[in-house]
Formats: sequence, structure tokens, C-alpha cells
Amino acid sequence: MRTYFLSIGLLIFSLGQVAAQRSCYYTEHMGQQLSNNPSLSVEVDNIENFIQRQLTLATSSRLVGTTTIKIPVVVHILYHLPDENISDEKVYGQIDMLNKCYRRTNADTVNTPAVFKSRAADCEIEFELAISDPLKRSTTGIIHKYTPVSYWQANDQMKFSDQMGDDAWDSRFYLNIWVCNIRKVAGYSSVPGDVAAKDGIVIDYTIFGTNSSSGYELGRTAVHEAGHWLGLRHIWGDADCGDDFVDDTPKQRSYNIGCPTGSRITCNNGPAGDMYTNYMDYSNDACVNLFTEGQKTRMKALFALGGPRYSILSSHGLNAPLNSETPLPDEAPRWLHPQLYPNPATNELILDVAYDIRWVGKTLSVFNANGQLVIQTTIKSKIQKIDIQKLRPGLYIISARKEDDSYIKQKFIKL
Ligand SMILES: [Zn+2]
Repeated sequence: MRTYFLSIGLLIFSLGQVAAQRSCYYTEHMGQQLSNNPSLSVEVDNIENFIQRQLTLATSSRLVGTTTIKIPVVVHILYHLPDENISDEKVYGQIDMLNKCYRRTNADTVNTPAVFKSRAADCEIEFELAISDPLKRSTTGIIHKYTPVSYWQANDQMKFSDQMGDDAWDSRFYLNIWVCNIRKVAGYSSVPGDVAAKDGIVIDYTIFGTNSSSGYELGRTAVHEAGHWLGLRHIWGDADCGDDFVDDTPKQRSYNIGCPTGSRITCNNGPAGDMYTNYMDYSNDACVNLFTEGQKTRMKALFALGGPRYSILSSHGLNAPLNSETPLPDEAPRWLHPQLYPNPATNELILDVAYDIRWVGKTLSVFNANGQLVIQTTIKSKIQKIDIQKLRPGLYIISARKEDDSYIKQKFIKL
């Protein structure tokens, strides 16, 4: 049996290899998570051993006792600018594309090279927006939430409300997808086995859904990231002729970009060559069109009894809601910047930072017109009172700064 330990070594070795095209951040993210949390590698090993045991048992459909798996999905749309608040129609388009690719009903499957056609699989996995939330209330499965964060790093902060992101729904029962501005990164998936609060996939808003930016306009990034969420590796195994733990995908030297044609022979994989049309390569959206039977078996193995996705099969997310209470919609805050009032003031000033609770805990300074510090305190609440009774009449400046280099600098007059 292939051991996962070896692959982690190769993975760390390959971290310097930055994805140039699809810019999936899965491998780098996995390396970071493993170095931050040594116990995760044990869990990752356990999952790999579980998958390998399942693969020796039976065919994928027997493994899970059901033909088609339906995965309840919740999409968390985090927007700072209006463009980032993508429409529900965009989400429907993406879900549709996920289903087409995983059921192999998309029209461009005709482009699968003849040599690989017999290995191409209907994965018998489907995705559906949840209609019941974790409290069994009615839901569209789509959350639109304003955030004061203008862009995100691929470091999971978007998965936490106290970081101005949005908390995951119980990931034992839902696939969480966060759609937000992650700039140069197209997307990434959590590492199967990582903590539940981080479980899910993150996709940049520009390439979520179809008809997006050129080259990645067919929603295949979400197909690729869902593949990682379902235990798939990059087809080149994240190493020079690496192993993706799937028997019917050829070894290949590295990732492919653009839209290759003909046979590209690497790692003695002739005559068929690289499977650059596989969703787990980096080729353009219009040029990827298959998962293999081996990849399907690997994905479905996760749903076997005792597997990391087994609990999805008992989700209530697609059952009729039992609770008629409707959650209140998330409202954008009244202010999108700090408010300081009254101004001028006599005894007390109010600093309203409700739009971004990350200000709570930060140091607040008040300077006089000569630049001398006259008050220093900690912001203790979203609506912070500042006692200015002892200040002499005149002009003052209030100032604070937080880690992302955003700052407050406002003048006020003490009467
Ligand atoms: Zn990837």
C-alpha cells in the first residue's frame, strides 16, 4: 500500500511551485495547515488508509449502498463592493455546472480524447442548495453578507464571523462554499480531516459560476475544488511525476495550462500521454471534461461507513424545513466607516465602530493640536464612550489602527 507519509514529503517539497494558471491554492494551504497543526498529518494519514481499505473492498456503488449521492450546499457570499455580491442566478449556474460535470452530462464531454473515453466516469454525485438550515428553518442555501474586509488571504479568516467572514454551517451535513475576493488565488479547498469549522471550499467571486472571466468561464474551478473536498489530489501528484493515488490517471510531469492538444508524453506515459483534460489539471475551463472511474471510486469511498463524508448522507439539509421561523436577512450596517459624534462635544464623545467589530480591543489615542497624547484607552465595545470632560477646549485628533493597516483618524472640537 502506498503510504501517505511519502506524499506529504513530496508535498512540502513542491510548495515552491506556485500555480501559474488556475492558481488553486490547495497544495500550499495543505502545507500550511500541516505545519501549523502536526496532529493533522495523523488524521490525513488515517483518512488515506481508510480510502485505501475501501478501494480494496468493492466497487464504489457497493461501498456506499446507494447509487447517487446528494450533497447539500450552502453558499456564503461575502461582499465588500457591490460587484462582489454575485446574484443568486450565478449560484444556480454554478450548481448546475457542478452537476453536469459530476454526472458527465455536460456537452463538452465529446472533447474527451478517445484514448481516455473508456475511463471517463459518471461520478453519481450531485450538489443541491440546502432548503433547511442547521436549525431546520427554511433557507435558499445562499447567504449574502456585507463585510468590511476588502479582500481576503487564503488563510480561512472568511470562514469565521468574528473575523468579519461567515461561520460554516455544520460541515458534517453541508458543503460550505465561501465566495469572496481572494484576489490572485482562484480557490482552495480545506484538507479532509481538518477541523469542522474550516471544512469547505473557497472560490474567488470573479470565477464562481459561468460566463465569468476569460479562460475560466465555465465554473470548472468549483468542480476542481469540490474534487479536492472529495479527497482528490492534483493529477500530477504535486510533484515531478508524482502520485495522485488514482490508478487510472497517468503519471505526468506537472500541471498543464492553456488548452493543450495531441499527445503530451511525460514520465513515460505514452502513447496516451498526460490527461490534461482532467478536471484536476490546470488546463482552461473549456479544455477540461472528465473525472475517471478511479477518481470516482476514491471520492465515493469517503461516504462509506466510518468515512469522513459519511455524515453527509444523513443531512437534513435537503429535507423539507420543520421550523416555519425564517431567519432574518443579514442587513448591511448603516455606516461603512467609523462614526464620531457629537462634534463639537462637551463631556462625552461616542465612537461607533459597529460596522467592523475587529476594532474592539484596539488602542485608541487622542492627541491635542500640538501632537501631544492626552488620552489613551482601549476600545471595549462597538459603541465606545470617550470621557473628554478634563480636556481643555480646542481641536483634538482621535486615532486608532488595526492589523490590516486600516486606521481611524478624525478631528473633533471640545467646547
Ligand atoms: Zn487544486
